[in-house]
Amino acid sequence: MDEHLIATINKLQDALAPLGGGSQSPVDLPQITVVGSQSSGKSSVLENIVGRDFLPRGSGIVTRRPLVLQLINRRVKKDTKNAHEELLDLNVGFDQKAGQSEDNVEEWGEFLHLPGKKFYNFDQLRQEIVNETEKVTGKNAGISPVPINLRIYSPHVLTLTLVDLPGLTKVPVGDQPADIESQIKNMIMQYISRPNAIILAVNAANADLANSDGLKLAREVDPEGTKTIGVLTKIDLMDDGTDVVDILSGRIIPLRYGYVPVINRGQKDIESNKTIRDALRDEKKFFESHSSYSSNASYCGTPYLAKKLNSILLHHIRQTLPEIKNKIELSLKKYQAELLNLGPETLDSPNSIVLSMITDFSKEYTGILDGEAKELSSQELSGGARISFVFHEIFKSGVYALDPFDQIKDSDIRTIMYNSSGAAPSLFVGTEAFEVLVKQQIQRFEDPSLRLVGLIFDELVRILREIISQTKYARYPGLREAISNYFIQYLKERVIPANEFVVDIIKAEQTYINTAHPDLLKGSQAMSMVEEKLHPKQLDPKTGKQLPQPIPTGGEKGSNGIFGGFFSSKNKKKLTALESPPSVLKATGQMTERETLETEVIKLLIDSYFSIVKRTVADLIPKAVMLKLIVKSKNDIQKILLEKLYGNQDIDDLTKENDITIQRRKECHNMVKILKHASEIVSSV
Ligand code: GDP
Ligand code: MG
Repeated sequence: MDEHLIATINKLQDALAPLGGGSQSPVDLPQITVVGSQSSGKSSVLENIVGRDFLPRGSGIVTRRPLVLQLINRRVKKDTKNAHEELLDLNVGFDQKAGQSEDNVEEWGEFLHLPGKKFYNFDQLRQEIVNETEKVTGKNAGISPVPINLRIYSPHVLTLTLVDLPGLTKVPVGDQPADIESQIKNMIMQYISRPNAIILAVNAANADLANSDGLKLAREVDPEGTKTIGVLTKIDLMDDGTDVVDILSGRIIPLRYGYVPVINRGQKDIESNKTIRDALRDEKKFFESHSSYSSNASYCGTPYLAKKLNSILLHHIRQTLPEIKNKIELSLKKYQAELLNLGPETLDSPNSIVLSMITDFSKEYTGILDGEAKELSSQELSGGARISFVFHEIFKSGVYALDPFDQIKDSDIRTIMYNSSGAAPSLFVGTEAFEVLVKQQIQRFEDPSLRLVGLIFDELVRILREIISQTKYARYPGLREAISNYFIQYLKERVIPANEFVVDIIKAEQTYINTAHPDLLKGSQAMSMVEEKLHPKQLDPKTGKQLPQPIPTGGEKGSNGIFGGFFSSKNKKKLTALESPPSVLKATGQMTERETLETEVIKLLIDSYFSIVKRTVADLIPKAVMLKLIVKSKNDIQKILLEKLYGNQDIDDLTKENDITIQRRKECHNMVKILKHASEIVSSV
């Protein structure tokens, strides 16, 4: 069961390897990552765990690309034994079975970059690591974060995933860049900062633990020390009389998983071709006979480290498996949804593509206008809501802001009053003067109304853009373009009758001034309001009754009847000589009370009528735009687009699929395949 778990993770790792394993991989698998200073013995530790010589080792920077190493235990079928016995067997395996025979059919390595090629010879395996490293980094000490993936199948290994990384180095040598230290640090961080990383912090026992690069980095991502295991190498090189007992007991820098002391082969051992088997035997002997370690010798050495790693890994996998499952399912769903969105690969006939895109487009267009958009945004108004805003906020306030009296002056009223009464001075305020002025002012509604048509046109184009910017329309760029062009062209054509209609409505308002409108101020009402204003009622202090009002007449002192004040005294003088009148004749001079009264009455009536028209315009023009532009386009759009596009002679070009879509669909198909496979693997647990 345990082996099965780790094997599952390894299978997953393989299944997901095409995704690059990096941050874009949906699954972050538990891995044991080796960190430490250069030459602290990282590669040696790994090699001992595997039980075979296969890693490039030595002084200087040897490991220059991450090596992702999957150890896969392949046991020859045996009678059923319990897990404990099997582990004992494995330990025996390190001691007795790990031979150095050239072509061992039981054990082989396989690289991800050379699929199917089995390396039975571990010297060749090492050579391939060196070649593959140099292929990317060159020969001269360069480094690269691109990992080499290697699997080793063997009955003598525990199933584990390990990552060997370049050691930390401070001074650049060879082809190394000036920032080699930070480059390596970043590379290490990439691996150990993953939530599922288990950190193997390697420190040479003859170096100060407090200065351990490995532990320092591990601390950064694991301050509690809960996923870091310490390895102390080169115990054999310690000065006589010194040991690491204090460290092991956790008194120096405590780690939850503690420290394991090990002894790897030294440079001399390597040169003399000392076998791992001999090395493991010597290591065992060393700890068993050393006075500091003998009492706890079973907690020292490489086999113990391997067992410990295995159980830590199992523990982590058990903890993270549900989350991994979840993530796989989630990203599977995500890619399946995207595939669906991209549309099926089997291409329909061009005409049916056109038909379905136009149908979709028209549906969405009407939907947005009717406020049925699927993804209603809470951030901003869209579609129908924006149009409503334009109607009720922008247009209405524009219309209501119109004030007739910022253009009409009292003197103009007087002039028009005289002009409209013609040659025969009328006895009282004529409706003509009022009508002339009101008509002039009604004209002013035309501008904002035409502007409204323009604004709504913009909004409809905006809706169009919103719709076609969706990914599904990107599939046929030609068709999308054509829909967009024809739609805008159609809208432009519709703007003309909409404008005409709007202009007609304003014209109609101008053409007939309905003085019988029930909301219009009555002439008599206006009159008494003005009189009240000009002559506030006075009460008799004795009786409390109203004093009689002086009645305005045309024949007051200093007034010339209805022409009173019309001509200045200068004009009057000239008149006596019967000169021809000045070319520009204006009503000037002090207004008589009667004139003031009439002017004020007309102003009140204009104001009252103008308000009525305001209300009508604010109400009616949006309705007109609705009819002529919005609803019209909603009803027409599908028909118009089909007319233009269905059976169009360029239909083959229009329905050519976007390269990006084709590419993306392939990627998604691939991802779905990989993730489905991964999902099957996980659900087998
Ligand atoms: P890495 O750079 O951390 O991968 O270190 P290597 O595994 O390449 O080892 C660096 C050097 O230290 C090599 O020459 C090893 O033989 C030597 N070495 C590693 N571990 C030990 C050990 O436990 N004892 C002795 N004597 N030498 C060791
Ligand atoms: Mg190394």
